[in-house]
Amino acid sequence: MNYEILTIPCLTNNYAFLLHCNETGTTALVDAPEAAPVLSALNAKGWTLDMVLLTHHHWDHVEGLPDLLKHSTPIIVGAAKDAERLPKLDIALNEGDTLEVGNLKGRVIDVSGHTINHIAFAFPGAVFTGDSLFALGCGRVFEGTMDMMHESLQKLAALPPETMVYSGHEYTLDNAKFSLTVEPENAALQVRVKDVGRMRTADIPTVPSLLSLELATNPFLRAKDAAEFAKIRTAKDNF
Ligand SMILES: [Zn+2]
Repeated sequence: MNYEILTIPCLTNNYAFLLHCNETGTTALVDAPEAAPVLSALNAKGWTLDMVLLTHHHWDHVEGLPDLLKHSTPIIVGAAKDAERLPKLDIALNEGDTLEVGNLKGRVIDVSGHTINHIAFAFPGAVFTGDSLFALGCGRVFEGTMDMMHESLQKLAALPPETMVYSGHEYTLDNAKFSLTVEPENAALQVRVKDVGRMRTADIPTVPSLLSLELATNPFLRAKDAAEFAKIRTAKDNF
């Protein structure tokens, strides 16, 4: 696959991403927390916004859209089942549906839990997870059940381990401190926590991260069943 992905910090700790197909020049934004940083990234690259892919309805993932629409008329893509809560969709998708960004073919995964009908977009080598899977963490379970969130994370865990995980927030330092309380003896985690500390001190984004590293270090992905996941998620809520 011939593509480029830009990570764009937005608001306090959100990330938006520009996925650009090098063969066709098609550019898709994943989530729209804020317009200005996205517009300047597009400008710097000389790219035109052709599509916007929305992972879920929360304000900090859609609020930049009206301002973006003043500059271009991208195709808006989101979950069919959540159409009522999302901005007006041009393409409404369900789990298993495919999506084309130029020559790039993605697949929709239902990752309900943080919200019901939250979706992830999986392309070869890259998955956009919104607020489901984070680097060393996962989203709070606001609308779904612990079982549902566990199942959603396990779907992401089953992607090829060399997949890069593009998640919606920079929460990694806080997640790292919590992860060490769950698995203090995990050597891979100890190394990663040091790396994350260094990166954040240098103001370097820790997103994206490699799925194989999440599988080795992320306690929410490593939970052996839904009950253990629920225990870890509840402990994090109170951390
Ligand atoms: Zn959210």
